Amino acid sequence: MMVEEILAAVKDAGVVGAGGAGFPTHVKIKAQAELVIANGSECEPLLRTNEQLMIHSAEGIINGLKLVMTATGAKEGVIGLKEKHTEAVRILQKAVQDSGEGNIRLFLLSDMYPAGDEQVLVYEVTGRIVPEGGIPLQVGVVVSNVETLLNVAEAVKGHGVIEKYVTVTGAVNCPVTLKVPVGTFVHEMIAAAGGTSVADYAIIDGGPMMGKIVAEGAAVTKLTGGLIVLPLTHTLILQKTTSIKIMLNRAKAICCSCRACTESCPRHLLGHSLEPHRIMQVVGSGTKSLAVLTQVLLCSQCGVCDTFGCIMGLSPRRINQEIKEILSKVGLKKQYNAQPVRARNKREYHLVPTSRIVSRLGLGAYNVPAPLDTNKVMTPGEVAILLSQHIGAPSVPVVQTGEWVSKGQLIAAIPEEAVVGANIHASIEGSVDIRDNMIVIRATGLGGRDR
Ligand code: SF4
Ligand code: SF4
Repeated sequence: MMVEEILAAVKDAGVVGAGGAGFPTHVKIKAQAELVIANGSECEPLLRTNEQLMIHSAEGIINGLKLVMTATGAKEGVIGLKEKHTEAVRILQKAVQDSGEGNIRLFLLSDMYPAGDEQVLVYEVTGRIVPEGGIPLQVGVVVSNVETLLNVAEAVKGHGVIEKYVTVTGAVNCPVTLKVPVGTFVHEMIAAAGGTSVADYAIIDGGPMMGKIVAEGAAVTKLTGGLIVLPLTHTLILQKTTSIKIMLNRAKAICCSCRACTESCPRHLLGHSLEPHRIMQVVGSGTKSLAVLTQVLLCSQCGVCDTFGCIMGLSPRRINQEIKEILSKVGLKKQYNAQPVRARNKREYHLVPTSRIVSRLGLGAYNVPAPLDTNKVMTPGEVAILLSQHIGAPSVPVVQTGEWVSKGQLIAAIPEEAVVGANIHASIEGSVDIRDNMIVIRATGLGGRDR
């Protein structure tokens, strides 16, 4: 296929970064790169989506990788995955061999967190450091999640992104990975995993480290990689529900400037000028040093500083997030700094094994397989599809309330004036109901979820 045809197909299909970033892929791959890295590192504990996809859809992932290499002119493709995923490694190795593509290879990562942070991954694979405030393209690399690549391969066949692979795990009776229509309700996902094994629980959308608490009435988006059910009293839930006010007061009272958060920060270890302990000092002293506070713009929100670094139970990550929001309101954004940096001395000794994260978070009992169940077909009677489930402008409905749509039909498009946006397609056949920020589709004119 020609480059323009690939870009048009990816744009039409509404492909966005499926690993959680949500950046529209047709914008990302409209670039020149030397190398494309397929990100299959799945660094968040408990999630199994990438691992399962690499086992079940190796050929599709390689096809998607080849298409992105063509689009970007990249001479080389690398699939980055954990060495511990031996079955996926075996299957991908054979698929690469069978493809006859001499310029595609695997790169095996150790089981550390956050191996899937694209700046960490780029460094591990190439030894290059993405400059502060920059993106991998600035060192000649495009990184794309393995599910995104699968969606690219489907896009050139004319298929829009209407399904999502989601791991449902934690305190559920049958942890599982499912392929479901976008917009499927969270409570239906939990039911499909055999229901919860505890009475009082909360649900995390995403991984334990970076995920957010969601309601059962929320819906799966193109970015949902996992749903983790945990007892309400679980440390992780208590941590995620502690108010920022309490977090700030604790930081002021007990941060001892020990630097442990900084010493374990993956972005600091790459040489970036991010020192969470200094941000905590400034917050504690109330000095409002802009030079230090703007460091938060370099934070990836990975959570290593609070989960692993801080022994006082503080959360530099949450505080960074809060400051980031304040800075964003006054228009302060990440500044690109082309100045080359070097990884910190003995970086390798500071990397955090995933097993330590699992143990620190008290997730050992939930660290179990969640195999892809290809026999379980989810047919929800109703789906709720958000108009903004990607980076960029919200999509604009191109259908009317009451209209009957078929599965795969375009229902919301990129606004004409938008530079960045993504198309959205109907994930089931049914009748449309347009709300403020979503399109609800009911499989029957009157029923759906309320039947
Ligand atoms: S969350 Fe903490 S460890 Fe992660 S990048 Fe931000 S400051 Fe560093
Ligand atoms: S690790 Fe905790 S106590 Fe030490 S400097 Fe960082 S936030 Fe403060």
